Amino acid sequence: PQPHPEAGAAVKAADRAHVFHSWSAQELIDPLAVAGAEGSYFWDYDGRRYLDFSSGLVYTNIGYQHPKVVAAIQEQAAHLTTFAPAFAIEARSEAARLIAERTPGDLDKIFFTNGGADAVEHAVRMARLHTGRPKVLSAYRSYHGGTQQAVNVTGDPRRWASDTGAAGVVHFWAPFLYRSRFYAETEEQECARALEHLETTIAFEGPGTIAAIVLETIPGTAGIMVPPPGYLAGVREICDQHGIVFVLDEVMAGFGRTGEWFAADLSGVVPDLMTFAKGVNSGYVPLGGVAISGAIAETFARRPYPGGLTYSGHPLACAAAVATLRVMAEEGVVDHARRLGEDVVAPALHELAERHPSIGEVRGVGMFWALELVRNRETREPLVPYNATGEANAPMAAFGAAAKKHGLWPFINMNRTHVVPPCNVSEAELKEGLAALDAALLVADEYTV
Ligand code: PLP
Repeated sequence: PQPHPEAGAAVKAADRAHVFHSWSAQELIDPLAVAGAEGSYFWDYDGRRYLDFSSGLVYTNIGYQHPKVVAAIQEQAAHLTTFAPAFAIEARSEAARLIAERTPGDLDKIFFTNGGADAVEHAVRMARLHTGRPKVLSAYRSYHGGTQQAVNVTGDPRRWASDTGAAGVVHFWAPFLYRSRFYAETEEQECARALEHLETTIAFEGPGTIAAIVLETIPGTAGIMVPPPGYLAGVREICDQHGIVFVLDEVMAGFGRTGEWFAADLSGVVPDLMTFAKGVNSGYVPLGGVAISGAIAETFARRPYPGGLTYSGHPLACAAAVATLRVMAEEGVVDHARRLGEDVVAPALHELAERHPSIGEVRGVGMFWALELVRNRETREPLVPYNATGEANAPMAAFGAAAKKHGLWPFINMNRTHVVPPCNVSEAELKEGLAALDAALLVADEYTV
């Protein structure tokens, strides 16, 4: 990349004057001006290049600027840039067909949205109308989106400002052995006790009041906690017993991230509704959706579904999805993610954990990994407190700055750094990123006691 510092300064100045950024105190942020991106890298206007171990916000599953997907968007733009949702359009039909071919079980009808949050909104609405019940159960340590209902369903601090009594959402604890709420010492205990806790929660909330249980198949932003064997199957059974709709949110975990098309494929559990976005087209054009089971589709076979969006199944977004799914199949991206996850990332992260006292736990699968950073391995005290800001967050900020200094763009949330590069990252790129991570962890180690 050629440096163009003046152009970068102009981009930055207009951003600071007029762009209002997500989740931020506007005067306390310093967004990097980005000049371009390709594959697993992006670069700034000073010519500094970063290896993107965050895949944007965990969505560029095939990296930046894949030429075949860019070409498909250009062709669709030249042919039919946009068309209203009530019509049958080739790109939309084909995207729905290709997605339904890959979704598990009888999730064969696709309702398209603009992203993940509105997919969750509509899944919850469908579940409430299908069951005639008001409540939704979801997990602490989860993220389901920034719109009103989706942020209420979310189990992390981002929901606090928008929580209202009328939300109809009840939170429960999903399994997480490293920070067990159930005094469990094994995955089997954690699984059994988490299921017992869910059953008790349902009994005390009233099974006949609960429309849906919404879970990320593998919680993403909240820490990549792969559920113990049997947990999702147990939740499926509980849902069947009480006529509750099981919604799996695959917005982050879907489309190759775990080394399977969907994280649900790891356990063979089939939900009633599955939400997706991000990796469906690597975010090249905004797209999300809900995959709908036969039984729920039947509810709306002769009764209108009361919901819609102007851009539902936007042709540009759908053409990008069709091209992305073809590229992923042609290039074996899903198998690649599984293989490099097993052969390269898992051993490398466990090796880092042997040398860095700040690593409390390594967990994940495919191209979906988290390092839980701690002050002390014995007590498991997090490197920074839950939801820390400012001075309290200094250790994670210092770790992040060190990673960037070594040319690595990390994904950081609270006391964790996630290793979530594009699913088609090369082995050489992975090794380069892991070496930078190794160097940056020396900074985190300085805060251990
Ligand atoms: N669900 C999950 C599991 C997510 O990770 C996200 C975003 O990170 C969302 C929903 C919300 O998606 P969007 O930001 O596209 O609205």
